[in-house]
This record gives sequence, C-alpha cells and structure tokens, in this order.
Amino acid sequence: MYKFKKIIACLDMAGCPNRCKHCWLGTAPNGDMTGEDLLYISQAFRPFTEEFEISSWYREPDFRGDYKELWDFETKLSDNKKSHFELISFWRMVRDDTYADWLYSLGVRICQLTLFGTEETTDNYVGRKGAFKEIISTIDILLRHHIAPRIQIFINKQNIKELPYIEALITKLDLVNRCKEIGQEFALFLHQGSCDGENEKLYNIRITKDDLKEIPDYLVKLTLRHCNCSSLSEIFGKPENVLIKELLEDTATSSIVSETPVFYINCDFDVFPNEIQPSNWWCLGNVKRDGINQVIKNYQNNNSVAQRLISTVTISEMVRLCGNPDSLRLFTKGDYIIYIWNQYCKFMCKSSN
Ligand code: SF4
Repeated sequence: MYKFKKIIACLDMAGCPNRCKHCWLGTAPNGDMTGEDLLYISQAFRPFTEEFEISSWYREPDFRGDYKELWDFETKLSDNKKSHFELISFWRMVRDDTYADWLYSLGVRICQLTLFGTEETTDNYVGRKGAFKEIISTIDILLRHHIAPRIQIFINKQNIKELPYIEALITKLDLVNRCKEIGQEFALFLHQGSCDGENEKLYNIRITKDDLKEIPDYLVKLTLRHCNCSSLSEIFGKPENVLIKELLEDTATSSIVSETPVFYINCDFDVFPNEIQPSNWWCLGNVKRDGINQVIKNYQNNNSVAQRLISTVTISEMVRLCGNPDSLRLFTKGDYIIYIWNQYCKFMCKSSN
C-alpha cells in the first residue's frame, strides 16, 4: 500500500459560531460529532501515512465545551501534534475565563483576530451581532494574559473607507505600547482574501488599483512589515484583465496531489482536500459510504470532479471561458487561478445537469 509522508486529517466536529462573509470554507451546518468519530477518522487514515496528525476542527478552534480534553485526545492520536494555532475563538474567550490561561500554558503568545471596520460593519461581516464587542473584550483579556493580539483586516470597496476608524481604534486601545509592555511587537495586516467560499459573493466589490490610495500610510507600513513585502501590489496582486492576458498564454494543467496532504472531513464524513473551498466538485468521497480506500484512490488519481478537470483542461482554456476581460479587480495570481478553477467547475457541473 502506498504511504504518504504525512497526512493531517481535520474533522469539523462542532462547526463555528460565526458566518463570516469572507469565509473561504463557505457555510455549512454545525455538527455534533463525538470522540469516537475522531478515533474512527484517525484509524481510517493512519494506515496510509508514515506520519499522522489529527485535529478536531477546521472552522472554529476550541468551540466545543470539552476543547481541553479534545486537545489531549488529538495529541494522543497524533504522532507529532503541532503547537496550538495562533487562531483562537473569541466566542469562547468572552465566555470561558480559563481559556486564556490554557492557551498561554500551551505556549500561545500571539493570537490573530479579524476586524472589518466599525462595530456595525464587523458584526455584519462576522454574521453575528455582538461580535465586535467580543473581539474588543478578547484583546483586553489576551493582553492581561501576556498574549499579543494580531489584527487581520479583510478589505473590499465597501469597507475600505473605514480604515481610518481602525487606525484610530488601534491608537485608542494603545495596542503598540501594550504589546511592547509584554515584549511583543504589535502586528496588523490587510488583504482581500481568496475569492472562494463565501468570499466569492464579494467578487463585485473586490478592490481595484485606484482604491489602494484609501489605505492610511500607517496601515500600509504595518501590512508591509508583517507580510515582509516592499509594495502593496505583492499583497493585492494584479488587475483581472492583466492576469487573463498572462494566463491565456499558459497551457499548463494542474494537480493538487501532494505527499503531505491535509484532508478536511465534514460532519457527514465527506472528505475534501484542504487547499480549496469544500464544494461538491472537490469532494473525494465519503469515508463511511465509499470507504477510505476509495477516498484515497480518488485523491491520488485526480478523480474528484475538480481534480479531473484541472488536470485535463488547461488554465488558458478555463480563463478564456470564465475570465472577465473588462474587470480591473485585483487578485494575486494564485487566488485568481483558484477562482477560475471553481468558476469552470461550476460551469461544467451546471452544463452536465
Ligand atoms: S472565517 Fe472562521 S470564524 Fe468566520 S465563519 Fe469561517 S470558520 Fe468561522
């Protein structure tokens, strides 16, 4: 039997309290899976890999009440469990006064939080009233526990005008000095995110080059420093019409198959490769219905609908059909290719129905 170098399997045991408008994972109902399900997935994937790691989430970390026990169980089921991500649950932080201490005990010293603008805008983009207030409270709790908040901001034509508000908020919260006091440098960065999952619905309001001048200098400076870039074009990419011209010349096909895959398993036991939104055309099969052998075979042989298409149709052909040559919207090349793959798959799935 072929063995991968490493497999990471992530099970969406509980889902997420939020419904963010930028979420590349899309929306799906929250599940209520059990420790036995985690064990079952672990036993299913383990024979196919030299090294195995399992996670009980791929949407909101630590959302379940038994998150500490789950962490211990994941560690036991994994060969080398990575340290806790810098992604945390602000939902939990304001509801559980043991959470920050627990994160600190695991070595977490920086946590990433996402803002979209004012309270109204942030609540709207997170999809839950009260989210903004919870994020602000979380910043305080983190700093009291010697953990620095890192701020991520997703921007588009709608919220870019609120960046001066965010700049003023950072000053009001005195984040630079408060991070310094705990030995950390305050970090913040802006980007658009990929254009898949829920974020695809924001295609029409993706920013264009002329919007970049709206970004306050200080936020540009912080973003370039965090991303280790020298210009915003490295972060926001090129206009769609320019990318189309480049890709029309590109006759390559693609494969996402790797020796170290990460698999996302939803609460119905459907399996997806993690690089891209978990939509039907990327589905590798169902561990319970189809069996793990078939799921692994589908991955290795480019046998999901999307893998079959991207490995046989050139990006040039796809962009000719699905690109918008009149669009000046900015994309990084990688994000644009994924956007085109999904548009092409959607088109082919619709045409075959
Ligand atoms: S972006 Fe994260 S927090 Fe927001 S809905 Fe998606 S998984 Fe949940």
